[in-house]
Amino acid sequence: MTRRVLVLGGTAEARELATVLADRGHAVTTSLAGRTRHPRLPAGEVRTGGFGGVEGLAAALGDVDVLVDATHPFAARMTEHAVAAAGRAGVPLLVLRRPGWTAGPGDRWTRVPSLDAAAAAIPGGARVLLATGRQGVGAFVEVDAWFLVRAIEPPDVLPPRAELVLARGPFALDDERALLDRHAITLVVAKDSGGATEAKLVAARERDLPVLLVDRPPLPEGVDAVATVDEVLARL
Ligand code: NAP
Repeated sequence: MTRRVLVLGGTAEARELATVLADRGHAVTTSLAGRTRHPRLPAGEVRTGGFGGVEGLAAALGDVDVLVDATHPFAARMTEHAVAAAGRAGVPLLVLRRPGWTAGPGDRWTRVPSLDAAAAAIPGGARVLLATGRQGVGAFVEVDAWFLVRAIEPPDVLPPRAELVLARGPFALDDERALLDRHAITLVVAKDSGGATEAKLVAARERDLPVLLVDRPPLPEGVDAVATVDEVLARL
């Protein structure tokens, strides 16, 4: 049966889901926040920009059979809105959340609950690869360390001692190795995003470097969450 599916996107999983849904003849629209100027576009229809809060999203669900929140694990506000709007509109919601990473032998990870906690845990004089994305850089502006800030778009602020590298992942392991070596990085700070961007963690392990890994915000209670595109398809 053909379904009208609204996918809240901005992730590789959301793009993969849109491709499979379109291939199977479903009417899929992907919603992007509009944060990146040249996003990788998914199959099917695309709409861009915020909905204007819960009410706006609920209104947009008028002609939708299923809402899939496939946003990034750290896009907690959008997920909260999705739960509230789907409830209000009486539309079923599925949350697609890829699993986080698990430390293996040789990993020197310290898990921290927030970007602020990561900033507080950075030792003075460190040379940090800051790979937490553009929006969180402000948490690090008062830290006494040198930063290699990597983001897709330029952040609004930078720490006083920083170099900016604009790049979009996922990155090849060899490139991550070269980056850590070229900049004599002593610490990696990253979000526990999960997925394909783990090469920086592998390169850090190989170099016996410590990593501060920011924990994901918890999912709202009672949400129906699955980990893979296949599970979404099975549920549809
Ligand atoms: P957020 O803080 O949870 O959301 C803030 C607001 O942005 C939402 O209330 C909503 O505005 C709008 N928004 C977010 N995602 C949207 C979407 N897919 N479609 C339409 N509007 C959206 O989100 P964020 O952390 O800024 O992330 C924004 C986007 O970037 C998400 O789509 C996410 O998948 C992607 N992303 C985020 C991260 C990250 O680390 N946070 C990393 C990679 C990709 P309204 O209230 O006006 O509807």
